[in-house]
Amino acid sequence: MTHGVGHDVTRQGEPDMTTVFKFGGASIKDADAIRHLTPLLEEHTDRPLIVVVSAMGKTTNKLEALLAAARSEGKEDAYRECFEALQADHHEAMEALFGDSRDSPAERVDALFDELDALHRKHRASPYARHYDQTVCYGELISTTIVAAWLNHCGIATDWHDARELVRTDACHQAANLDWAATADAIRERLRGSECVALTQGFIGGTEHGDATTLGREGSDFSAAIFAHCLDAREVVIWKDVTGLFNADPRRFDNAIQLERLSYAEATELAWHGAKVIHPKTLGPLQEKSIPLTVRSFETPDATPSVIDAERRFDAEAPSCILREEQVWIEVLPRDFAFMDEPRQHDILGRLVEAGLHANLVDSSAMRFALCLDNKPERLEQLIDSLEADYEINREDGLTLLTVRHPQPGMMDTLSEGREALAERRNATTAQRLFRSSDCPETWHIPESR
Ligand code: ASP
Ligand code: MG
Repeated sequence: MTHGVGHDVTRQGEPDMTTVFKFGGASIKDADAIRHLTPLLEEHTDRPLIVVVSAMGKTTNKLEALLAAARSEGKEDAYRECFEALQADHHEAMEALFGDSRDSPAERVDALFDELDALHRKHRASPYARHYDQTVCYGELISTTIVAAWLNHCGIATDWHDARELVRTDACHQAANLDWAATADAIRERLRGSECVALTQGFIGGTEHGDATTLGREGSDFSAAIFAHCLDAREVVIWKDVTGLFNADPRRFDNAIQLERLSYAEATELAWHGAKVIHPKTLGPLQEKSIPLTVRSFETPDATPSVIDAERRFDAEAPSCILREEQVWIEVLPRDFAFMDEPRQHDILGRLVEAGLHANLVDSSAMRFALCLDNKPERLEQLIDSLEADYEINREDGLTLLTVRHPQPGMMDTLSEGREALAERRNATTAQRLFRSSDCPETWHIPESR
């Protein structure tokens, strides 16, 4: 399925326009992966280039574990073990890359590790979310210090920029909201006209008071879109360990195929329904400026990529399947034989918002209002405690929500064969069914079109 797309969809007539590259954790997970970056960047240094980088490999998860230990009583040994393992991983990469070269950033990296180690004294009494952001931002601060030193070592002139000073946000920690005007000013002032490759961190930002903030897990895609939007970039490229976007998770569907072209709107829908393709906030800022997003493989950079832009013609070409697992189904029933009408639905959804939850599927009838939710234990408990004060609650755990975009006739029934659907919903473009996970196969198959 080739539509002859690739570089021709970008605005090539404007050679001075910036390109934004984003490298995720997998693409810089160790020294070998970091070495891969050099040839990819060398090809693009003839025009302005911003490179947005995540933390190495699974560093953010490890920093979350470090934080949990730092905030618990009597976990000093676990904390120290976590800390030393993280430092050792980064040292291993630096030794493999730089040997005993004077270009090694080991001293700067150790200074960052010292800051990380010291900040808990100040923040142990801070709210969790604030302490979280001050801690996990070090994953990106450290990875970019190493990558910048490596690129300079290889002769690619690179400036390191602190995204805490560029991506300006409010203090809503772990899900910070952009101050677009301040961000655009800072980014334009620092990065416009730069002769060097500008290297910075994804995922992190900062408040006007200098506190670090984060944009939500996997938020580096969104960071790349922020830089692109503020600089009117010509293109964003997300480099991944797969050749592009697929119509289903290839680990769960044995016949998933790559989507070579889709629209901003379609990609947003897929991300919204739970496809782990691109952070859902990424597409809006790109769409507004008509900046195409290309997803490419850093292992096989010449393979046909996936391109997301304004063209909607190809969106319905193949159905896409998305699984959301570990779902919980909550039925809310009246205690007084009154209808579950709009005022009551409003009341229930208000409590959902207060608990910080999002409904993946809603079903209502005269005497019942039901919700399918991700299993976030603390938040769910808060919601259920609140609802139980006024309603009867039934709960079922261990469920899988299957969403299909652009299903073909009969497809949902074929996908549901032998399984009871606890709930379903359908509109012109999307069908969803909720199953018990114990009834679902390990590997799914997308039915052939009839
Ligand atoms: N390092 C962060 C995370 O793992 C951000 C990102 O990878 O996009 O969530
Ligand atoms: Mg990451």
